[in-house]
Amino acid sequence: MSSTKRFLVIVNEQAGRCALLPDLEARLRAALGPAEVELLRSEDAEHAEAATARARQHKYDAVIMVGGDGTHHGVLDVLAGGDVPLGLIPLGTANDLAAEHGIPQDLEAACEIIREGCRTTVDLIRTKEKTFATAGGLGLCTDVALGVCEARQRSWLFHAFMRLVGGLIYQIYLVYRVLFAARLDYRFTLTDDTGRARDLDAYMLLFMNQAFLGSNFRAAPQASNRDGVLDVIVVKKLPGRRFERLQLLRTVATCLKGQHIGRPDVEVIRAQKVEVRATEPVAFFADGELVAKTDRYTFKTLRRALPLLVPKERAIVARLPRRSNLGDWSADRRWDRTWSVGGSQRAPRAA
Ligand SMILES: [Mg+2]
Repeated sequence: MSSTKRFLVIVNEQAGRCALLPDLEARLRAALGPAEVELLRSEDAEHAEAATARARQHKYDAVIMVGGDGTHHGVLDVLAGGDVPLGLIPLGTANDLAAEHGIPQDLEAACEIIREGCRTTVDLIRTKEKTFATAGGLGLCTDVALGVCEARQRSWLFHAFMRLVGGLIYQIYLVYRVLFAARLDYRFTLTDDTGRARDLDAYMLLFMNQAFLGSNFRAAPQASNRDGVLDVIVVKKLPGRRFERLQLLRTVATCLKGQHIGRPDVEVIRAQKVEVRATEPVAFFADGELVAKTDRYTFKTLRRALPLLVPKERAIVARLPRRSNLGDWSADRRWDRTWSVGGSQRAPRAA
């Protein structure tokens, strides 16, 4: 039996730095050698999904995504709950999953981690529409992401400005929107898996599977993608608050360092499952991609569902749950969940 490893490598040429590396394929093959490398230039999400499904069926040693968070986002539904691990070569604009696990943006260094083959398993968050790995959002955060995207397509001047300032464009656009948008808040009803419902007027809801969002925002300092719990950060509209928009800007600014936790307009909800109802269709993004626009969402953690190749020192002895919670969202109650204002509590491990 051959001991040569087989890798499926999917390259998203639209992602961040991929287009800037003309010798990308040669470097990948050299850095991943002597493995058998099947290299695919991704044409669309369906193309990548079909290739990943085939690699899982034939038990490849890894599916390697070359790009950013939006690149691996496309194949998570296929890899969830399986034995074929995801390898990351983070060449995108946002590389939040790779950063969370200490995977460097240097191509050769990332390939060395894949060759070593040390793995862990991490939680995923499933919605009816899509499974995601890093973070998702409803409200202001999504309005900003969509606003930047639309402005870029509409105006060459805006596009040129965006190239000049890079990722800072989102923070600049966020300030503009908070100060000048006609309306900022939405009406949501949140229900946890005990059936307790809350009505909230909120500017945004963040669904965090890890601490950082968009490289800069330490949105959920206490979040972990190994605890089976989803961290929902709610930025609320407080009735009768003076200088409402300036206060919101201050909350967002403190979010950069994770100092927003404990502010009166911020609430942290930790649960295995959360249902969200809105009074109107609201756009939802996850892993930096627009996923859906509807008035009802259900979020559920899939504990340790994704095998991921990580640096040796980050690899921990981990195994998938004895019973997969895929398709049976109420099956695993090992982790308790809490509703906590201020978010200082971690979910306690059940005895
Ligand atoms: Mg978690």
